Amino acid sequence: MHPSDEIKTLREKHYNATMIDIEELNPELWILRVRPDDELPSYKPGQYTTLGLGDWEPTNDPANNEDVGENLKSKLVRRAYSMSFPMYHDDPGQLLAPEDLDHFEFYITVVVRNGEPGQDPTLTPRLWALKKGDRLWMGPKITGHYNLDYIDPDDQVIFAATGTGEAPHNCMIADMLRHGHTAAIVSIVCVRYARDLGYQKTNQQLADLYPNYHYITLTTREEHNLSRKVYVQDLIKSGELEAQTGITLDPTRTHVYICGNPDMIGVPNYTREGEKSYPETLGLVELLESRGFKADHRRDKGNIHFEEYW
Ligand SMILES: Cc1cc2nc3c(=O)[nH]c(=O)nc-3n(C[C@H](O)[C@H](O)[C@H](O)COP(=O)(O)OP(=O)(O)OC[C@H]3O[C@@H](n4cnc5c(N)ncnc54)[C@H](O)[C@@H]3O)c2cc1C
Repeated sequence: MHPSDEIKTLREKHYNATMIDIEELNPELWILRVRPDDELPSYKPGQYTTLGLGDWEPTNDPANNEDVGENLKSKLVRRAYSMSFPMYHDDPGQLLAPEDLDHFEFYITVVVRNGEPGQDPTLTPRLWALKKGDRLWMGPKITGHYNLDYIDPDDQVIFAATGTGEAPHNCMIADMLRHGHTAAIVSIVCVRYARDLGYQKTNQQLADLYPNYHYITLTTREEHNLSRKVYVQDLIKSGELEAQTGITLDPTRTHVYICGNPDMIGVPNYTREGEKSYPETLGLVELLESRGFKADHRRDKGNIHFEEYW
């Protein structure tokens, strides 16, 4: 093991931010609030930054068999995280702007892996060992093309997420409502259990207040819906989305943002010759493209935008 003074030196050298708050929604799902030492960089709703902890830090996970300890490499373990957002403090009518906060909010799930010996160090089991007041590293830049640059004021916007993929959408939705977007906005979030819906109350209150905003949640492992699991793809394919919200999925005036599990997104593969093929499991991109939508492909922007978390 590194002697503790060596760890202290490594922390002082690398860390530039403080964990000011941890809100435990359930044992695997947290909202983390981080304040960088320097001035807060500005960002566009939807973008992401990077968090990191040293590989010398302990994990919370006894099954985590990472080969650290004797082979400490003194490197930072870094991962990308979308900027999440509280949307408002107490009053849903008083929506916040990113610059109203003196910290950043992240919405993170711990990923437990069964620790093959020698596996690369992971970040979330280390984050889960932190307490309020602990130090960590935050990337100096907030970046990303997953943002609202493509939206016109009359466009309908549909956000689809699995789990913590909801994080960037909260910030984007608050921004649109705050700027008076009056066309329909729909946020769909698919999780395993209802306890994994960390922003449900916040969003439901907004949906009650703004008639153009619809918040739809899907749970796939609750007892009552085990016999009929509905994924986001099913909701769209069956026409239930349109029936529930009263909107028409018209590609000439609708943008769709998809974030989280790559299986839900279903990003097409392109050969060098530009030939396109879709993954075996039906994803939203294939489904929507069959209905006249077009996914972003590098610089060629369409009306389906996506952020894959892995
Ligand atoms: C642009 C971008 C933004 C991201 N934003 C977020 C965010 O806001 N919140 C968040 O929780 N994660 C987010 N991620 C994922 C994050 O970067 C890490 O991959 C994740 O926290 C796991 O890190 P790890 O080191 O513990 O595990 P790793 O060793 O990196 O394990 C990766 C494996 O964990 C699984 N996994 C990764 N992310 C998730 C997830 N969110 N839910 C379920 N399984 C997952 C996948 O199977 C993946 O192969 C984002 C990723 C990208 C690329």
